[in-house]
Amino acid sequence: MSIARVEPLTTARALRGPFDYSIPDRLAEIEVGNVLQVPFGPRRLLGVVVELTETSEVPADRLAEPIRILGSGTTPELIELGLWIAREYCSTPARGLGLMLPPGTGTGGERTRARVEKLNGLTGEGREVMTSGGRLGTKQKLVLTSLLEGEMTGRELAERTGADGSTLKRLQERGLIKREEITVRRRPEGSVVGAAAVDAPVLTDEQISAVSELTTRLDSDGMSEALLAGVTGSGKTEVYLALVERVLERGQTAIVLVPEIGLTPQAVGRFQARLGDRVAVLHSALSAGQRYDEWQRLRTGEATVCVGPRSAIFAPVQDLGLIVIDEEHDPSYKQESDPRYDARQVAHKRAKANGSLLVLGTATPRPETWRALDRIDLPNRVDGLGMPPVEVIDMRDADPRSGPIHPKTMEELISVRARGEKAIVMINRRGFAPWLICRTCGHHWGCPNCDVSLIVHRESGQLICHHCNHAEPVPRACDTCGGTTLSQTGAGTQRIERLLAEHLSPIPIFRLDADTSSGPGGHGRILSQFDQAASAVLVGTQMVAKGHDFPEVTLSAILDADATLRFPDFRAEERTFSLVTQLAGRSGRGAAGGKVIVQTLAPSAPSIASAATHDSPGFPEGNSNAARRFPIRPFRR
Ligand code: ADP
Ligand code: ZN
Repeated sequence: MSIARVEPLTTARALRGPFDYSIPDRLAEIEVGNVLQVPFGPRRLLGVVVELTETSEVPADRLAEPIRILGSGTTPELIELGLWIAREYCSTPARGLGLMLPPGTGTGGERTRARVEKLNGLTGEGREVMTSGGRLGTKQKLVLTSLLEGEMTGRELAERTGADGSTLKRLQERGLIKREEITVRRRPEGSVVGAAAVDAPVLTDEQISAVSELTTRLDSDGMSEALLAGVTGSGKTEVYLALVERVLERGQTAIVLVPEIGLTPQAVGRFQARLGDRVAVLHSALSAGQRYDEWQRLRTGEATVCVGPRSAIFAPVQDLGLIVIDEEHDPSYKQESDPRYDARQVAHKRAKANGSLLVLGTATPRPETWRALDRIDLPNRVDGLGMPPVEVIDMRDADPRSGPIHPKTMEELISVRARGEKAIVMINRRGFAPWLICRTCGHHWGCPNCDVSLIVHRESGQLICHHCNHAEPVPRACDTCGGTTLSQTGAGTQRIERLLAEHLSPIPIFRLDADTSSGPGGHGRILSQFDQAASAVLVGTQMVAKGHDFPEVTLSAILDADATLRFPDFRAEERTFSLVTQLAGRSGRGAAGGKVIVQTLAPSAPSIASAATHDSPGFPEGNSNAARRFPIRPFRR
């Protein structure tokens, strides 16, 4: 007897699956990874087949049969992985497996099925009627004329001729056109931002040796992993591309992880420009239908490279040869909700299961990566330019009246405008001001739920908690004393945007933060406006520090370099180091060179001092010494 072990897709935590079902002859094709509809007590549930077996502890006459198979589900490898995630991250099998299934499984939504349309074409008779001048209505004639150019979907015909379904149906009944069902692919909008080269450039000697060393590892048996430690602008992406090409040549597949959705448009653009339609993208800004179609393209092997943020590690590809994790230090690789997986760890697991090569690339490796992996260095920028000089401005000496932008910084920005160039300004806090304080009694507005300061948002006129999203209108008077002199102190992106607009007009100021970039394509839209402007300033949170590549940027300024240092997190130092280093790397990517300004209250903190001197190896070394004293990574887990 054939038995399917099925893990029900429920939210119940206490359920002890899997449950056994006997497979009837009519469902003999059931495989591990299939999604089934099964009877479950009085209910019907969806479940995933996690194992096939011949025996069950349940007597045969008490075993139920599955009702039907719903699609091919996922691969056996990903079933293993989902169950591992459930155990490793203390989640449930349903949640672990849920990550592996076709997008939308269980929601029953229309959009999560393939979209089928009718394709219309002329028949021989149709052609004859056209030439013999047979009796036709105006719309009908228009349709037939259009179809002379080739087959078209009903949608296309409707756009050209205004003909509706009934017109087409009548033509079909008269035998003048033939209609067949086809699956229409819903494509993600191809948003290419910045320079995307279609042909590979001639690689530098350093890139060539990195590629050849990694290719050797590709050839070795079993999994292999390496750290590609390349300064910003050292051309890591070209190395990834070369490796992906090798992997595809041998008929294998690749996954490329990039940190956040803001980064994906440019990264995806570069991969698609080079590799074309073999690249599929998976990310949350796609519509449900697009996500479903991209997923299926990977599942069927039509697409062989998946590019996307952390969840792309679950791409249903087979014969996985290579996993690249770009900017491996990035915190977004960890999911902060159940299941709390770390995509880097999951990548390690998949690389091991498939005997793949795992490449972690970054300018600022995490201490654990630095210690554990073999390192391949790209110590120089491809353009041969040196790293831009960094000026550290000690804000302890600054006149408080001059505000959050130091006069020297402002002077530099003004000369960027004079030269018609671009600048990036980072302040790692969104909103207008981080504190609202009553001048009369000193009352300070905090979140009723979280005991943190509420942030003033001018655009929405609200006080918002950045922790729990609690929001209330900005008050006109103090709740405690009735005083009406309320001061909005400190600065967030909105205030900086306003200050810059006042001082730098008429050049445009673009703001990039979670508030301006929400919604599909938000990041890409802002980055591409900045890209297309002649001279402009991009201001924003840490989103502006990452990954993009604009050669006209000649100044990067970070206004509160030590803000992240004050976080109560053992990674505070390394995050600060990487943020400052990343932002510094955004400047001077073109012939005009560049400059970096770091405003800080803690100029001697190792993270800031190392970043200012571009001392990428020095920081993890020094930081390791400190970590040795505490029960934290890279020495303990
Ligand atoms: P990283 O990811 O290391 O910061 P990128 O891969 O983004 O660096 O490369 C920086 C810029 O240099 C990009 O515009 C890229 O197209 C270009 N580039 C990379 N390699 C070469 C090369 N060998 N020749 C010319 N340009 C290159
Ligand atoms: Zn709160």
